[in-house]
Amino acid sequence: MDNLGKLFFCIAFISLSGLGQSQSIESPYEVGTWQGFRSAAVTYTFDDNCPNQLLIAVPMFDEFDFKLTLFTVTNPSWGWPANWIGLQSAASEGHEIASHTVTHNSFSGMVDSLQENELKNSQDVINSHITGEQCVTIAYPYCNTGNNNLVRQYYFASRGCSGSTESKTPGNFMNISSIVCGSEGSIKTSANFKSRVDNATSTNGWVVYLFHGINGTEPGAYSPISEDTIRASLEYLKANPDKFWVYTFGGVAKYIRERNAASVSQISETEDSIEVSVTDTLDNSYYNCPITIRRPLPEGWASAVATQNGITLTSKVVEVNSVKYIMFDVVPDGGDILLTKSDATGVSKENKSFLQTPYLKQNYPNPFNPITQIEYSVPKSGYISLKVYNLLGKEIAKLYEGIQLEGDYIVSLNGSALTSGVYFYSLQTNNFVDTKKLILLK
Ligand SMILES: [Zn+2]
Repeated sequence: MDNLGKLFFCIAFISLSGLGQSQSIESPYEVGTWQGFRSAAVTYTFDDNCPNQLLIAVPMFDEFDFKLTLFTVTNPSWGWPANWIGLQSAASEGHEIASHTVTHNSFSGMVDSLQENELKNSQDVINSHITGEQCVTIAYPYCNTGNNNLVRQYYFASRGCSGSTESKTPGNFMNISSIVCGSEGSIKTSANFKSRVDNATSTNGWVVYLFHGINGTEPGAYSPISEDTIRASLEYLKANPDKFWVYTFGGVAKYIRERNAASVSQISETEDSIEVSVTDTLDNSYYNCPITIRRPLPEGWASAVATQNGITLTSKVVEVNSVKYIMFDVVPDGGDILLTKSDATGVSKENKSFLQTPYLKQNYPNPFNPITQIEYSVPKSGYISLKVYNLLGKEIAKLYEGIQLEGDYIVSLNGSALTSGVYFYSLQTNNFVDTKKLILLK
């Protein structure tokens, strides 16, 4: 190959990895098109800061444990100035706060320098107000697409509204389609919502809904829809948890990128344990959405548990067409995953059956430097969170958050990035909380 040929080869290779097409999935592993191998993804997005979005939609979604996206106009003189306290509280619950530009002017015919102001300044303002997540997606005012090359420098996914259901990998991340809901849109009734998501299951598509006003009680809010209609649509999705993945706009877009860029390979296999590597070539600082991997259970395994760095991953044994699979959620590049053979009717369940509430043990060792272990029991499968806080009550580490099966667990806390001092760790379920103190001595 001459030098020019080599250079061309090099450029071609880089641009392919940039598109995330460098994946290799070793048999018998599979990556879910959507989290949990569900059939379709569904995203609810809300524009223009209409007040009922924080007053009505966010509490309603919290009730269902679904996450939504609030596309926020940042100019303080906008009709409904951003309510940063309400938005931060929504962000803390896992909802996405993203950009709907500074001024809400149309990008159509707008010169690049002004587009850049809208893109950059709105992102900066959101990032200065919202902690715990970065603003990485944008919705175009009036759905008029901006200069894609410019938008791409600030955002990895942008929302338009062509009215169609997106395919499982959008053709253009800078103009992802959404469907306008409410009085001016094509989705008005519960039946409209139901048929749209049902149709998406046959193509493994992504439905992105676009909302503005709720209940028609906000003067000037575009295309209002009643909260009862939104609620009915959520009830249908909640009733079909194996079919529909309801998540934020940025979260689903991240999942798609990670799924298409992931490489899965088996490192080792013994009679009762398997080591697997899941990696990708993306920027780990914000491509942090867990993707779902599955493989058939090896011969003679009744069940399995998945762990990563000693932390139990969300996992499930499922039967599909009479094949039993272990399915687990993992963020690529977080370290190798260990699948361990387990007995589905394990003794730990029987021994712990007298426990009615979760049990949190004192960490060991304590004081510690830099690693300590925390042991706890979950008597009944359900939502749990285990987090570490500093003296001011600020969360500094999330050891687990999500649905966990009943059982005993040990997690490790690595304090090498923390300063010496007293910290608290807290185990929480929907109706239980226990907090203990730990001491890091360097
Ligand atoms: Zn708007």
